[in-house]
Amino acid sequence: MSDNVLVWLRRDLRLFDHAALHHALISGHRVICVFIFDRDILDTLPRTDRRVAFIWESVLQLKQELTALGADLVVRHGSAVKTIVALADEFGALAVYANRDTEPYAIRRDTEVEDQLVSEGRALHLFKDQVIFECDEVLNLSRQMYKVFTPYKNAWLARLSEQALASYPIRPHLHNLKQCAATALPTLPELGFEQVNVDYLQPGMDGGEALFNDFCSRIHQYRKARDFPAVRGVSYLSVHLRFGTVSIRELARTAHQMGGEGADTWLSELIWREFYQQLLWHRPELVTHTFKPEYDAIPFPNDSAYFTAWCAGQTGFPIVDAAMRQLNQTGFMHNRLRMIAASFLVKDLLVDWRWGEQYFALQLNDFDLASNNGGWQWAASTGCDAQPYFRIFNPTTQSLRFDLEGNFIRRYCPELAHLDNRSIHAPPAMPAYPAPLVDHGTQRLAALALFKAAGN
Ligand code: FAD
Repeated sequence: MSDNVLVWLRRDLRLFDHAALHHALISGHRVICVFIFDRDILDTLPRTDRRVAFIWESVLQLKQELTALGADLVVRHGSAVKTIVALADEFGALAVYANRDTEPYAIRRDTEVEDQLVSEGRALHLFKDQVIFECDEVLNLSRQMYKVFTPYKNAWLARLSEQALASYPIRPHLHNLKQCAATALPTLPELGFEQVNVDYLQPGMDGGEALFNDFCSRIHQYRKARDFPAVRGVSYLSVHLRFGTVSIRELARTAHQMGGEGADTWLSELIWREFYQQLLWHRPELVTHTFKPEYDAIPFPNDSAYFTAWCAGQTGFPIVDAAMRQLNQTGFMHNRLRMIAASFLVKDLLVDWRWGEQYFALQLNDFDLASNNGGWQWAASTGCDAQPYFRIFNPTTQSLRFDLEGNFIRRYCPELAHLDNRSIHAPPAMPAYPAPLVDHGTQRLAALALFKAAGN
């Protein structure tokens, strides 16, 4: 075997504050960075998938930076397990370093990779990188997982230390990168995807940094502004958190040090992300089942015409339609709107939350299994620490509260733009816009009956 080790980049597409890269660089071996476009995942996606374009742009940036250092990012395309094992063999690597991913698919994949590497006399070293606290690091006094967010958050904050937020430096150790000639990066069409413009998402480390700097200048307003989709009140960093083009330690450290109601509220949101990750790690069956077993088999009518209208933003409820159109056009949906749209699908259209969860999974740039599942189970009242089933959002009231002047609706439903600030939330009959699919009052009662019957 040679003196080489591989760093396998996955959802950690950056060259700063990176646990696996740091540990590889200080291991005393020559470090080669690799990235695999995983066929097992890509084959399930449409050719225009924005996330693949985001990843591709981010990988290009990594490759350019490594090439400028006289090193390379070796990029391959294939089944992840076979390809990483083959790469370890090709480079005679002693070990593969990577950051831990606790999604069920990733756990299975990494177990298989480890088995194969070990059988060839190599090792797989995994590191915590994408969260501050992972798996069972934050437990209650009975050493059980927390099922309620606030005590989890308090325990999370009590555990926080300088060490937990400390960076993994890369720059001082870059001389341990293996120097080599640059190899080619397969183009998106070569990977089977179309060239989609994702400039607006500001991909890559540079994009993540620019967005974070912009957000820091307005973080103090976050608590007040974050619920209003028409204003720039949130960070828009979720896609960067998903693909690791930002460092969670840097984000959490900055928010923690800044303090104040805006930064503290934002830190809470980062903790929600970790709450859902540990929940899925403890209870992987949540991928297909409800947290509250009594709600697992509610006989939702699942009207497919309702579902199609919801997906297309054609329900006749402007705030829901604007939300769904934002998702379809940009791959992003504001958190308040995710709650409204999800609640509407389940409790007004009486469609199983899993249908909506799957649609979001396909469309969201920031799709993250744990957060998406957690968010859907929250809205559907089937999750732990969820919205109680009898609290049903009225879409029109939500619209009036969070988009009072209708500015967000006007942006995504131009056919309603001429309406006044009041009627835009519940428009009169008009040819250009659908009549409401359902009556909220009637559906509310039907939803209550379904949940009550399931709970008995
Ligand atoms: P900010 O408000 O700036 O928050 C900062 C970060 O905190 C986010 O980037 C995210 O990482 C985290 N965060 C914020 N709110 C939550 C939350 N409620 N749960 C978990 N983490 C949170 N978030 C995803 O990242 N991926 C998903 O697939 C996803 N699906 C969701 C589905 C539903 C039905 C709901 C209700 C929420 C979902 N969320 C998901 C959570 C939240 O809506 C997004 O994280 C947020 O809108 C992203 O925008 P932002 O980065 O500007 O967030």
